Amino acid sequence: MNSDSIKIFKNKQDCCGCTACMTVCPKAAIKMNPDEKGFLYPEIDDAKCVKCGLCVKTCTFQNGYKTPDNFDTPLVYAVKHKKLEERLTSRSGGMFIAAADWILENGGVIYGAGYGDNFYVMHKRADNKKDLFEFKGSKYVQSDMNTIFSQVIDDLKKDRYVLFSGTPCQTSGLYSCLKNVNTEKLYVCDLVCHGTPSPYAWRDYLEFSKKKYKSNVVKTDFRDKSFGWFTHIESLWFENGKKVSSEIYTKLFYMHIMFRPSCGNCKYTNTRRPSDFTIADFWGIGKAVPGFNDNKGVSLVFLNTEKGKKLFETVSDNIEYKPSRLEDCMQHNMKAPSVFSESTDEFWKDYLANGFGYVAKKYGAISFKNEMRLRLKIYLKPLLIKMGLRK
Ligand SMILES: Cc1cc2nc3c(=O)[nH]c(=O)nc-3n(C[C@H](O)[C@H](O)[C@H](O)COP(=O)(O)OP(=O)(O)OC[C@H]3O[C@@H](n4cnc5c(N)ncnc54)[C@H](O)[C@@H]3O)c2cc1C
Repeated sequence: MNSDSIKIFKNKQDCCGCTACMTVCPKAAIKMNPDEKGFLYPEIDDAKCVKCGLCVKTCTFQNGYKTPDNFDTPLVYAVKHKKLEERLTSRSGGMFIAAADWILENGGVIYGAGYGDNFYVMHKRADNKKDLFEFKGSKYVQSDMNTIFSQVIDDLKKDRYVLFSGTPCQTSGLYSCLKNVNTEKLYVCDLVCHGTPSPYAWRDYLEFSKKKYKSNVVKTDFRDKSFGWFTHIESLWFENGKKVSSEIYTKLFYMHIMFRPSCGNCKYTNTRRPSDFTIADFWGIGKAVPGFNDNKGVSLVFLNTEKGKKLFETVSDNIEYKPSRLEDCMQHNMKAPSVFSESTDEFWKDYLANGFGYVAKKYGAISFKNEMRLRLKIYLKPLLIKMGLRK
């Protein structure tokens, strides 16, 4: 790198990996490369760079983001998809699929987080119901955006409806690439985000499990709803027919120890959302809308713009919904970024030297006590519910 080379960011906390800089570069001089944890960062090819500075100017994570069309305060709803099957295969109440289905029915395309080889989490494009299904459910890993923003722009130029869904740093990144693009048919959906874990931690967890159970992983679920909406237990299905449910990855997620560095510096942990509508789990639903919860999933929905409101009204025949109040649904990540574990640096040092299994044991995600607790949750709780002794 020359001393006068452009620097897109100084510290890793300042880059969310959205790919906006790569998308707008007029010389295709920027590539996203993984660091040792699998998080992607932009790197400039000095031989191609003409130092126009567009990459730096476009970065909304560092320069601030605008939401000129947003309502002063979002309209808040509790939502359940009317089809139980749609809800059970969604993370919360199925708001995403209700909106996505309308876009598909109108000849549009959906962008969301799906899987590449070996369950590599990446954003993909879907123009049919089968491909769309893959986007359902939360993948608690940072998704690779690859060339998605350019594909969205191409679809908008072809005058197609587009629904783009992602974390708020991804939706904000998309907006920053859309100058001179007609966005009339674009709908943007973000989610309330706790933080996005390392792609290599997820990869290595799967590899660790494959070795442990001596079989390839054929299906994954970051949060298996067969244990109820509230419970957070992950499940893996193996080629040999075995299903294993555990909280190993979940525990590491909630330790706030494997998030992208920029998650601790998140700009979007507020109610000024970079999207037409926002989806989340409606925690606190029991108090906010008594009688609406059935432990099968309720979406918290914010309508942020007139466009989001119109789309909601259009799909309202397919959902059950109740208005709610902002103050009744506020979560920590609508007010502040997740606070990283003090052991984060030590964790990664250990991880890079000794691998996934070592840190999972050392930092308490794998322990006899956890295993016993999990068994109680999986076997005893359903039994008590069946006997009417617990809700
Ligand atoms: C990393 C992460 C952290 C989250 N943190 C919180 C939280 O703190 N509080 C809360 O209430 N909700 C959180 N959620 C959101 C929540 O889990 C659900 O996504 C939301 O309730 C939508 O549910 P649904 O039933 O409408 O959609 P579903 O049908 O489950 O649709 C899932 C949607 O999420 C998108 N998505 C899934 N994984 C990713 C990913 N890795 N990156 C970008 N987009 C993705 C898909 O593209 C799709 O649009 C988080 C989700 C993720 C992925």
